[in-house]
Amino acid sequence: MDKPLPDLPKDSLIRLLPSIADTGLSTALHFGWLLKEEIETSGDKAALARLHLALGDIEYGHYHLDSALSYYLSAQQGFEQETDTASQAEVSNRIGIVLDDLGRYSEALQHYNNALRFFKQNEDTAGLAMVLNNIGIAHENLGNFQQALDFHTEVLAYSTARKDTLDQASALVNIGGIYASWGNYSLALDNYLKALGFYIVKNSREQQAWVLNSLGNLYLDWENYSLAAQYYLQSYRLYNEEGNTAGEAKVINNLAIVYQENGDTDTALAYYHKSLELEYQNGDLKGIAESMINLGSFYFELEDYSKAEDYFNQARQKYEDLESSIGLASTYAQLAKVYSATGRLKMAKEYFLKSLESVRDQKNTLQELEILDGLAGVSAGEGNYRKAYEYLTAHNKLRDSVFSMQTEQRMLDLYHSYENERKRQEIELLNQENELRKIDLREKRERIKRQQITMFITIVIVLVLLVLIFLLHRQSSQRRRVNRQLEKKNQEILDGRLELLKAKEKAETADRLKTAFLANMSHEIRTPMNAIIGFTSLLSMEDYSEEQKKEFLHLITINSNHLMGLIEDILDTAKLESGQINIQKKPTDIRALLNEVFLSFLESQKAAEKEHIDLMLLLPPEGVSLVHQTDPVRFRQVFNNLLENALKFTEKGEIRFGCQRQNEEGQWVFFVADSGIGIPLDKQNIIFERFLQVDNSHTRRYGGSGLGLSICRALVGLMGGNLWLDSASGKGSTFYFTISDVPQT
Ligand code: ADP
Repeated sequence: MDKPLPDLPKDSLIRLLPSIADTGLSTALHFGWLLKEEIETSGDKAALARLHLALGDIEYGHYHLDSALSYYLSAQQGFEQETDTASQAEVSNRIGIVLDDLGRYSEALQHYNNALRFFKQNEDTAGLAMVLNNIGIAHENLGNFQQALDFHTEVLAYSTARKDTLDQASALVNIGGIYASWGNYSLALDNYLKALGFYIVKNSREQQAWVLNSLGNLYLDWENYSLAAQYYLQSYRLYNEEGNTAGEAKVINNLAIVYQENGDTDTALAYYHKSLELEYQNGDLKGIAESMINLGSFYFELEDYSKAEDYFNQARQKYEDLESSIGLASTYAQLAKVYSATGRLKMAKEYFLKSLESVRDQKNTLQELEILDGLAGVSAGEGNYRKAYEYLTAHNKLRDSVFSMQTEQRMLDLYHSYENERKRQEIELLNQENELRKIDLREKRERIKRQQITMFITIVIVLVLLVLIFLLHRQSSQRRRVNRQLEKKNQEILDGRLELLKAKEKAETADRLKTAFLANMSHEIRTPMNAIIGFTSLLSMEDYSEEQKKEFLHLITINSNHLMGLIEDILDTAKLESGQINIQKKPTDIRALLNEVFLSFLESQKAAEKEHIDLMLLLPPEGVSLVHQTDPVRFRQVFNNLLENALKFTEKGEIRFGCQRQNEEGQWVFFVADSGIGIPLDKQNIIFERFLQVDNSHTRRYGGSGLGLSICRALVGLMGGNLWLDSASGKGSTFYFTISDVPQT
């Protein structure tokens, strides 16, 4: 056969057992058996003992008390051979526990005492406290309450010294239990409440349930059923939450008692059955027996004696199996009461007496009272009045002692109960406050967390908004910039277009002007040329007199001059255009120059047959020097031009020309004024443009190239002055101009 076990040290495998048992008992046991076989072959006795201890624990965990016991006993033997006292202490204690559960209290005590010895040897104080506690419980089960109290008090001292609050609390509960058995309710309550306080602080919920159940028991004994029910319900809730069915079974049983005492028999019965069912489920023999006693008592009170007897007998069977003397004693008393009630007096007496013996051993006075009472009844029934009287006397004596003790105790209890209840409420209040504070703290923390989250979200939103606003702003400013650029470009294009249009217009105008100019020129040139050619041909003819021929020659001269002037104008314009005209300044006597102009213009006037127009030269008085640094040729040309225009556009009246000061110290201004046709205001600018005339039809009437004024303005500009005019349609014109140079004195 293959080795079915993992190749690990045996102790490791043993330590694995409890975890395997958690998943399934049969697997664990199977594994245990295989392990046992292997360890047995190896002959390792210590390991075998440890294995037995582990297997015992597993069986005990499943309420298999007999199997547990036999494993523990085997283990004990093994440890004894190995003289392993520490393990002996452990296993002896556990044997004691199983025997205690089996109701074999005296045997349990023997094993506990062994354990105590070993723990003392090994100075294991924790173990010591544990076993002392168990000894106390065993004595309690035996009815040795005083001894039990001594042990529990010792445990309390130990655990207080070790500051082990859980052990302290359990010792307090056990002490309380003993006081409760003695009817000392106030001390019982005191201890229970102290223990409850410890358990609440440690948050040991199952232990809290245990104490609450004990408190319920206390109030049940005290016949305060509503408080008892409250404690039981609290206890039930905790056991239920912790999934402790054994605890639940006990509390449900207690609740049933409360309902029974309150007269709600249906509910009570249902609870008893529920409790019994749970005990069966848990496989707790002692619990089952107790439940059956309770059910028997229930039916006894309902006077259903056969059912009562049935349950009591079943309970007796269980206690016999458990070998529980204390259980048997109470069962015998119960059965005796059934026999007595059903007239089976002999059996009743027998059972009462059986019980009395053991109850007296256990010093259970309350039960003893009940039995003595029963025995008195039975004896009376048998007609044995003497015996009946004896039992009654014994009963009364015992009752008196218990009663006086109880009355005294009750007074004390009443005194303390208020205090204790207050303390209990304080504990609860503290507990609630603690809870509330925890909830409050939690809420506060959550609120702060919520606030932080809200703040964070707000910040994020604000940031996102800011970024959005920034982006939008940037985009819109970019758009604005682009728009501006576009507008600018647009404007530039428009301007360009406008300029183009202007240029085009200008070009077209220039073109038109050139065409007009050419037409003018051809006319202007042809007219004098015709005259020259015509009169020259006439000269060669003999038909004309010498006088006439002289006239012809005169006309030829005039027309030649005119033609010459025209050609000069064109040449000047071309020179100005190409910048070829140079101003050659020299000191010039303007007075003399204008006098010459006057004289030569008289000739022109004559030639133009306009001698009727008054020609006036207006000059400052003789003493005023009119010598200027200027170009006399060009200066004279400007005057000639302006005077010719004046003559041309004036039919009658006068032509004045000369110079004057703008003001006393001011600049000299030269002028030519006429009383001619004048120039409309809107044309006063364009006449300075080349080839432009106020009215192109002028040409036909007055002749002219349209170059004169533009040449004048250009020449005056070159001489450093300005040319302007003052005129209105039909009211004559005055042309003014300045030159830059100051007069020389
Ligand atoms: P033009 O050779 O045609 O005289 P100008 O440049 O000298 O050329 O003169 C331009 C036009 O200005 C003239 O055609 C005329 O219409 C107007 N003009 C010039 N001088 C006078 C003036 N003294 N009186 C009225 N109109 C004048």
